[in-house]
Amino acid sequence: MPAPLDDNARMPYQLPMPREALPEIVIADAVPQDERFWVPQAENVWFRPLCLNRSQGYWMNLLRVRKAGVLSRHRHPNAVHGLVLKGRWHYLEHDWVATEGSYVFEPPGETHTLVVPDDVEEMITFFQVNGIMYYVDPWGKPLGYEDVFTKIDMHFDKVGLGADFVDRFIR
Ligand code: FE
Repeated sequence: MPAPLDDNARMPYQLPMPREALPEIVIADAVPQDERFWVPQAENVWFRPLCLNRSQGYWMNLLRVRKAGVLSRHRHPNAVHGLVLKGRWHYLEHDWVATEGSYVFEPPGETHTLVVPDDVEEMITFFQVNGIMYYVDPWGKPLGYEDVFTKIDMHFDKVGLGADFVDRFIR
């Protein structure tokens, strides 16, 4: 269907937003220079929260892995979307490489281990993770999980930003 004709194309919407609508999130420094915004996750692995959606059970974050870092083997019961902003990485379980600028769809049922090759100093990827990350051993035995609530429980107070700093990412 073509776009409708609108005699007031540049007139803002004149009515209030729905009363129950949540406030928007706008983060100017989405890829932050301030190291305090990068939450340590494992050795040489950090994540930067952008939206922690507790009402729908997903989170949007940047994953940063530096040389020799590994994101532990995990299974996804729900789909994941990724966009590589910097660097390059691959999964031990697949022969493709996610290069800078790549979009990646990970289907439900995927189990994989993310590694950054030795010649890449740093990779940053924007991920939408739905549901949980279910950490497993090589034969599928459960080792733990993360969900939006474990991500919310991040203790920004430890780096001096205050315990309620995380609230700005929660919807
Ligand atoms: Fe994954």
